[in-house]
Amino acid sequence: MSRTKPSNEPQDALSRLVEALRVLPGVGPKSAQRMAYYLLQHDRNGAAVLAQALGEAVESIGHCQRCNTFTELALCTTCSDSRRDPALLCVVETPADQVMVEQTMSFRGQYFVLMGRISPLDGMGPNEIHFDRLLDRIEKPEFGGPVREVVLATNFTSEGEATAHYIGEILKIKGIKATRIARGIPVGGELEYVDAGTLARALLDRRSIS
Ligand code: ZN
Repeated sequence: MSRTKPSNEPQDALSRLVEALRVLPGVGPKSAQRMAYYLLQHDRNGAAVLAQALGEAVESIGHCQRCNTFTELALCTTCSDSRRDPALLCVVETPADQVMVEQTMSFRGQYFVLMGRISPLDGMGPNEIHFDRLLDRIEKPEFGGPVREVVLATNFTSEGEATAHYIGEILKIKGIKATRIARGIPVGGELEYVDAGTLARALLDRRSIS
């Protein structure tokens, strides 16, 4: 196996490209180098399109004034959709989570995207999840409030749980109804193959059959 000789040259365009590709999550020096070589050798046109799309996206995409998701508009299409119930608000960590909830086709309210989760070890606190803006959205008419029910759909990781707990506690003090999405057995799941934690949670969250 051949080894790459360490380069003593000053930063050239190729090194800068490799370095730039490393901003992507999970991309180390080797994958970055592979991507750079691939683009230069096999797809220069694709590379140019990528560069332009990145430039345009960074330039034009901002955050929705109301729900904080990515949009090129002041108000995103979901927030300005009059068929949706603005008094039912689903709180998610990321735009990708919002897409997943949308795909269920079973939620007709609106969203607030935290763009993160509370995680003191990573320096993520209430400010970083835009908690003040969430409260504005819930309470103030000029931001789409008042909200009747807040559905906390953060992840079931320790950070996601802490985030839901934090938001839920403050909403409780304020007398605003907050609910948490239920954990349980996956659709089509068999008990024998479900982990004990999930089964325990499903037992705790059991409901009566109507
Ligand atoms: Zn929005």
